Amino acid sequence: AFDVLVVGGGPAGAASAIYAARKGIRTGVVAERFGGQVLDTTAIENFISVPHTEGPAFATALETHVKDYPVEIMNLQRAQKLSRHGDLFEVELESGATLKSRSVILSTGARWRQMGVPGEELYRNKGVAYCPHCDGPLFKGKRVAVIGGGNSGVEAAIDLAGIVSHVTLIEFDGKLRADDVLQRKLRSLANVDVILSAKTTEVLGDGSKVNGLVYEDRLKSEKHTLTLDGVFVQIGLLPNTEWLKNTIALSVRGEIEVDHHGQTSMPGVFAAGDCTTVPYKQIVIAVGEGAKASLAAFDYLIRTSAP
Ligand code: FAD
Repeated sequence: AFDVLVVGGGPAGAASAIYAARKGIRTGVVAERFGGQVLDTTAIENFISVPHTEGPAFATALETHVKDYPVEIMNLQRAQKLSRHGDLFEVELESGATLKSRSVILSTGARWRQMGVPGEELYRNKGVAYCPHCDGPLFKGKRVAVIGGGNSGVEAAIDLAGIVSHVTLIEFDGKLRADDVLQRKLRSLANVDVILSAKTTEVLGDGSKVNGLVYEDRLKSEKHTLTLDGVFVQIGLLPNTEWLKNTIALSVRGEIEVDHHGQTSMPGVFAAGDCTTVPYKQIVIAVGEGAKASLAAFDYLIRTSAP
């Protein structure tokens, strides 16, 4: 059995694995796709001490660092069930294999909900963005749209309005769903327009980058085109925790509930990164939380396991 089994091989999982292995305990990482979301990222400019890198290079660096230690990496394996049997946890994989461990760190990350319209996938990272903290500065002085009028969409629009020249916020519903205080702030900004009852139907581009967007006015059934350089999609972040329902406590959004030590509702099971209730989904935060969960798992082991 492993001492620490990490489920998820993104920044949080890599940090957990390194911290565990450095304690000299038996460590495994099982990941559907080692590297995680950074594999889908182009420029990363906010990982402190690395002024600029590219997502795939960052993912390779994560893997190289983990491989400096005797960590067993089981890549391209998806976990589907977690259970406890006495002092051991069992993680069942879709392949049919079962892994046993004295403690578990869940770091399965999250995925952005997509609009599913033509052009969105084609221009991903070429104008279509999902994270204002990550990509906002790339659109300095340009025109962008934010899709979604919930708290994250309105926060993104307020944030971006301070960087870009103009923001158009597009909401499907007839009203915004964000908190009143955010809506008031949004309406006070001179370079923001809000369009309600609008369904985005296509992201337009010149073949290499975004240059516009088509939306349908749902009340008049008319189509309109906006000229833009960027589209920030803010219609939800979905944690990869469906398989943990009924096993550990999840928030209403499906995030794993953790305390300050990354401990979940099941003693001996810890969690870190975008799959948890910890706010602000960023690499630097996922890495820190992964290290923390791993130290907490080690504390748990020295209190519970036979030497
Ligand atoms: P993830 O990176 O999501 O990794 C999750 C891991 O778990 C993956 O290995 C996945 O395959 C695995 N997994 C999931 N389910 C299972 C399962 N059932 N069984 C086994 N394995 C599973 N952040 C920044 O700080 N700066 C940026 O510039 C930046 N740009 C971004 C650009 C894009 C396009 C995207 C999508 C995100 C960006 N982010 C950025 C956010 C950042 O990538 C995430 O905050 C970070 O990757 C979270 O790390 P994580 O380890 O928690 O999860």
